[in-house]
Amino acid sequence: MAHEISRRELLKALGLAGLAGGISWWGALPWTEQQARLRGISGAIVGDDVEVGHRWRDGGFAFQEQVPTKQFGVAIIGGGVSGLCAAWRMQQAGMTDFVILERASEMGGTAKSGSRAGHRYPWGAHYVDPPSKELRSLCKIYEDCGLIIGYHPSDQQPICDPRHIVRLPHRNIFAKGAWSQGRYPWHLMKASDYQDLERFEQIASHWSNWLDPSGKRAFGFPLDSVSRADSVVRLERMTMLAFLQEHRLDSGVLRWSINDRCIDEFSLPIESISAWAGLQYYASLAPRKKVPPAKDFALPPEVEAIDPTDRKMSWPEGNAFLVRQLLRRISPASCRTSQMVLRVRNVPEGVRVTFLDLNTRKIETIAARCAIFAAPKYLAYPCIPELTALGRSEFRQMRYIPWIVANLRCRRRPSFPSKTPIAWENFGFRSWSQGYIYADDLPTSDAEEDEQTTLTFYACFASSPDQERRSLLREGWDFWASQILEELTRMHPEMPDIVTHIDIFRWGHAMHAAYPGFLFGEDRRKMQQPCGQILFAHCDVGGLAVFEQVSMYSVGIAEEALRRIKHPFTSIQ
Ligand SMILES: Cc1cc2nc3c(=O)[nH]c(=O)nc-3n(C[C@H](O)[C@H](O)[C@H](O)COP(=O)(O)OP(=O)(O)OC[C@H]3O[C@@H](n4cnc5c(N)ncnc54)[C@H](O)[C@@H]3O)c2cc1C
Repeated sequence: MAHEISRRELLKALGLAGLAGGISWWGALPWTEQQARLRGISGAIVGDDVEVGHRWRDGGFAFQEQVPTKQFGVAIIGGGVSGLCAAWRMQQAGMTDFVILERASEMGGTAKSGSRAGHRYPWGAHYVDPPSKELRSLCKIYEDCGLIIGYHPSDQQPICDPRHIVRLPHRNIFAKGAWSQGRYPWHLMKASDYQDLERFEQIASHWSNWLDPSGKRAFGFPLDSVSRADSVVRLERMTMLAFLQEHRLDSGVLRWSINDRCIDEFSLPIESISAWAGLQYYASLAPRKKVPPAKDFALPPEVEAIDPTDRKMSWPEGNAFLVRQLLRRISPASCRTSQMVLRVRNVPEGVRVTFLDLNTRKIETIAARCAIFAAPKYLAYPCIPELTALGRSEFRQMRYIPWIVANLRCRRRPSFPSKTPIAWENFGFRSWSQGYIYADDLPTSDAEEDEQTTLTFYACFASSPDQERRSLLREGWDFWASQILEELTRMHPEMPDIVTHIDIFRWGHAMHAAYPGFLFGEDRRKMQQPCGQILFAHCDVGGLAVFEQVSMYSVGIAEEALRRIKHPFTSIQ
């Protein structure tokens, strides 16, 4: 057997040995038995070929800039949410002379989706929070995507279409053989855990209400407009672990839960993530006065029942729903997929963009007056050699974390005790994964009556990203499928009998890491500076990998591009 390695070696190879220390999360089954469990289960590693990209990045093939075939106002490199929001903004301003060059065979980047047997599912991002009125450009995007149906007459806050709001229960947690509803394993918690939890909630609420003398908040979006008061900057420079220690928040359950959230939201554990990023999840939503329900927009009671700060918007295909809505508003002629950009270069009249057509294997060059580089910045140096010549080394500070996402087709939904029905998110206490999403109960689900379902499994490999990235690439489907199945079997013993198919997507550079000093630091400020006519977008330079931040940051960059090409517009920021 090719993968005959011991459990300890496996943990070491995955860089999970530290995490596992003393925790028996790994399946006790011998490897051969795991293989036996995969019998009868089909599946594949899906996604675009990464080989060609790696070969080019490592200088593996030579190419030459061509005579430009076309001239555009703006060339957008990367068709993820950043590139699409930039395109949306320009289209909205009446500027249609742009092209999006996307390496993958479809648009969407880390917010793309798949489907099987009529079931849609996400391959990455899967939810957003309802917006507040202060986030003007985000509200405009959501209005245009049909998410906002009106504004409340008493506080002018947006009212989201209830068809997009996730119903309760949101979360279930499995700990020591039993399920609990919510984020915490209540049945394991002692009085001291409850005390620490209450104190942590008070601290989060303090920061959520906090304003500096100029009225700026300590947390929230957009990132670059939050207060830079000393006390806020201090949080950004310390780790979340140091913050918890400083407040003597010692509860193991609380620390585990915060750690899990930090990994889930921003891909780093508490010992590595900045305390500001760690607290953002808990303190970013601005406190709001209670207002009576708006008469013209009666929400169903099951939506009214959800605390407004805990409302989430999601779709069976995840944020690919938003991608689809954005694409509907962008001319298909402006969207070119399977085009891998190799070089972006400043010239006196603008930029030249050279790319490889992955279908025809031909190299093409286009001219544009301005470029928006909305691809991840580990590609900045191979794509833009001028950066090295200019001595711009700041993009090297960016660190990326790998993730794995799997979609499991099941004969039926997994069983739960009657008191804890299946939730939208279901995850394990002290496990190596983020658990799975069950989307059949979302209002926009088109799940059929046949009982079959698809579960979306997530795992982030944050403890030693370089090593784990190599493991991700090295190991094949049977390795990952059996680990995923084993992980889920801990929560649901019937899993091997109900799973029929497992497709797996490996994200080698899924998200950048918000380590202390990165978000408010000088390096990120430098990254935001254009290189001639090349502007930088993408969630990495925007700071936080969440739709709200990514979209608003991109709108700002698109408006800068409009300014540069002298296209008239009124800012929506
Ligand atoms: C597993 C996972 C779960 C997530 N969950 C959530 C969530 O629930 N909610 C949320 O808000 N956010 C989530 N995110 C964060 C998500 O990444 C951002 O919200 C957002 O989608 C990022 O968009 P982007 O365009 O900045 O980057 P990307 O999605 O990385 O897009 C960059 C694009 O550039 C393209 N590209 C790369 N190289 C080239 C090249 N040489 N030439 C041309 N194109 C190129 C890529 O193919 C890609 O399409 C998640 C991310 C991951 C990985």
